[in-house]
Amino acid sequence: MDREKLLEGKKLAARINQIVKNEVLDFQKAFSFAPVLCAIQVGDDKESSLYLEFQQKIAKKLSIGYKVKKLDADIQRVDLIAVIEELNCDSTINGIILQLPLPDHLKANDIRICLDPLKDVEGVHPENLGKIILNEDGLAPCTACAVMELLDNININLYGKEAVIVGHSAIVGKPLAAMLLNDFCTTTICHIATSERGLLAEHVKRAEILVVAVGKPGVVKGEWIKKDAIVIDVGINYVDDKIVGDVEFEKAYERAAYITPVPGGVGPITVALLMRNLLKAAKQQKQEGK
Ligand code: NAP
Repeated sequence: MDREKLLEGKKLAARINQIVKNEVLDFQKAFSFAPVLCAIQVGDDKESSLYLEFQQKIAKKLSIGYKVKKLDADIQRVDLIAVIEELNCDSTINGIILQLPLPDHLKANDIRICLDPLKDVEGVHPENLGKIILNEDGLAPCTACAVMELLDNININLYGKEAVIVGHSAIVGKPLAAMLLNDFCTTTICHIATSERGLLAEHVKRAEILVVAVGKPGVVKGEWIKKDAIVIDVGINYVDDKIVGDVEFEKAYERAAYITPVPGGVGPITVALLMRNLLKAAKQQKQEGK
């Protein structure tokens, strides 16, 4: 396997982590404390617990403080919002993560809007999402940023490129589309209706840059990949105890100029950027005297 073709996230994440670690030390020297992240977990979803453990491990490596607030699955909306408001006002907490999934009676959008945008390190508050549309600096969603970092790392000129995103979620596909537009890609977003009309293959075949964030293994066939395309597979799927992406990897690998492995592609960068956002948030809070 030609490793040059593989867009491995681990190396890039390690570089970002090193920079963040050094800056955390500088921050600590300047303000006599290290930034602290607090994750809220409602219920005890197994995958979400594994993700929190991973975040905690990286935070420790970077000398970042990490707390988890575990709440009962039957917590009512008003009580969850009270917890968030308390964290918003707590000057010892610099970043808040609302871990998904939430139980069915709670709607993520309904809760996210209560986060202090200055502590919204996942970039999911409407104010932070809106800043991407306006091409202004803010706390942007980490997975969409991870895709942009991967593209930046291979020095690709995005100007006028045909970019196709499969998946239009509010935290991956949509913000990423805005980011690619900001860099002058000709950007198409595909979603369930594209597939249902039988048009997914047609769009994917045009993509010079293809990003797939669906959560269905093999939703993009390897034979659809345009020759020498850049393929970024965000999907994480558990199949027979193995983790696979959304793109049929072997066939796509043959056709692509670059392709992310799953696991080990976008995932590690997402967590590194979460920590970078936390540091940025902590610095901004200090600037604003909070
Ligand atoms: P999501 O909110 O469930 O969104 C999935 C998107 O895929 C939706 O826009 C959905 O459209 C669309 N879709 C569903 N079936 C489709 C089909 N057959 N053809 C085309 N589009 C289809 O998920 P998400 O949070 O964006 O995450 C997507 C995947 O990325 C998941 O596997 C998740 O685990 C993974 N992920 C990875 C990272 C990482 O760091 N690597 C971070 C976040 C997410 P409709 O809504 O219209 O049905």
